Amino acid sequence: MSRISAKLREKIIDAAENRCGYCQTPQDLVPIPFEIEHITPKAAGGTDDEENLWLSCGVCNSFKHAKTHAVDPLTNTETPLFNPRRQVWSEHFEFSENQTEIVGKTVCGHATVASLKLNNARVVKMRKLWISVGWFPPEL
Ligand SMILES: [Zn+2]
Repeated sequence: MSRISAKLREKIIDAAENRCGYCQTPQDLVPIPFEIEHITPKAAGGTDDEENLWLSCGVCNSFKHAKTHAVDPLTNTETPLFNPRRQVWSEHFEFSENQTEIVGKTVCGHATVASLKLNNARVVKMRKLWISVGWFPPEL
């Protein structure tokens, strides 16, 4: 991460509209700075090039770790994880009716929700609080 310049970091934050590319949590709602993550992990040959970088909250990034693929629990199909730079979030995910959970719409969406635990109990609890004061979901 130290090889990524402050200027590039700012460019990525702007491109990501200051939200996690996976769970869509706005940076402004959490005190811990989001991370510039490697879409293709360095362990899998990913580079520090802008094309391979996006903004991620620490929770999603820690569950993603060095993964590039995951299994869709519905179809048992292995698929590449969602790529927040190349793919459109709303084509692969949507919020549940009460907006506290992220629902996969595609094989990639299902696999990413499961693998990155996008509906882990802590974030769902936070989303309920944010929704109650009108801070969530963000405008996509
Ligand atoms: Zn996240």
